[in-house]
Amino acid sequence: MATEPIQWRYPLADLDLGEPEQQAVAAVLQSKWLTMGAQTQAFEAEFASAHGAKYAVAVGNCTQALHMALLALGIGPGDEVIVPSLSFVATANAVLYTGATVRFAEVIGLHTPTLDPESVLGKINKHTRAIIPMHYAGYPCQMQPLVDLAARHKLAIIEDVAHAPGASLNGRALGTYGSIGAFSFFSNKNLSTGEGGMLLTDSEALDARLRLLRSHGMTTLTWDRHKGHANTYDVVALGYNNRIDEIRSAIGRVQLAKLAANNQRRLQLTRRYWQAFAGSPIETPFSDGYSGDPTDHPMLKPAGHILPVLLPKGANRANVMAALRQAGIQTSIHYPPIHSFTAYRQRYGEQSLPITEEYAARELTLPLYPALGEDDVDIIAKAVISAIGETKEKEQ
Ligand SMILES: *Cc1c(COP(=O)(O)O)cnc(C)c1O
Repeated sequence: MATEPIQWRYPLADLDLGEPEQQAVAAVLQSKWLTMGAQTQAFEAEFASAHGAKYAVAVGNCTQALHMALLALGIGPGDEVIVPSLSFVATANAVLYTGATVRFAEVIGLHTPTLDPESVLGKINKHTRAIIPMHYAGYPCQMQPLVDLAARHKLAIIEDVAHAPGASLNGRALGTYGSIGAFSFFSNKNLSTGEGGMLLTDSEALDARLRLLRSHGMTTLTWDRHKGHANTYDVVALGYNNRIDEIRSAIGRVQLAKLAANNQRRLQLTRRYWQAFAGSPIETPFSDGYSGDPTDHPMLKPAGHILPVLLPKGANRANVMAALRQAGIQTSIHYPPIHSFTAYRQRYGEQSLPITEEYAARELTLPLYPALGEDDVDIIAKAVISAIGETKEKEQ
């Protein structure tokens, strides 16, 4: 029996899809070339150029991208990779796929919930091979300390840029600080193709390796043979089928063209939320670093992927979420810490990451998408503040 989807007044996310995407998809169908071809090549070239990277490799999703990045760097059994526990489970799962071991590190603090370089330093041992910083909510990790630390200890950096396409720090795009950057085009991300992902690198050797891994280690592709560039192929590595298709690449190109304006809009709305919560019991992570006008921070351009807030200590989050649901406002939690999941506790035992745990226990993610209005933000913020008040009264 199908249940009716809830009619949210304010869903958590809402895609900016329209006529241009429909036309792009129709054109691919008319071309009758559905898998990697001209659209994918153009999407890769445009994505690389938008981020100031030399090479881009489009893939089926970001989970595959992270897995391929680790494999391309030669990481496998006996190696250790340091990741934040405050991330989507894919960040850690990708490490396990290779046979390597996951080491969870802390985030900096409740108002800066990105990977803490000090904590990373404490997790390094002779087996450590790589660090995967994740640009939580679209805000940059402290890349310079992480890059310095990685250089000192001869570690690779793979950036999980799922939240931060089009974002930059000191004029340099996120996803280009490490050896490889892995992006997601999943249905609720800033640039969406339903499913999809992209790898960025400046290394010709890594680009070649990633292309082999994407398509069964084959030296030529169906597209090359179609274009008459090749008749046959060799298989020179154990690769996968991690390809994207032309329909999604065509959607991606349209979405990429809107990305900068949509990221900017997300940031405007984010600042409106921060203003609306000022002086209330709701805390707003990242807001300390972005006071005043956005033009005051020309060197810091986050992607504003999600809007995380912290409820007061001891607030009953489930009740707050239920009250907001009654008001038609969809909320979520980013994230239950990876180290707390059953599969990870079974593998590694109990671990303690106090800042990550407190953050995850108090975090609530509010609606954020380009079509949201400033008035909507005020309505949602008011509803959150009054839900805190109401649920408090009920508890007393
Ligand atoms: C969405 C997401 C992923 C996984 O992306 P997919 O494209 O769905 O595989 C990885 N890491 C983070 C932080 C994400 O948010």
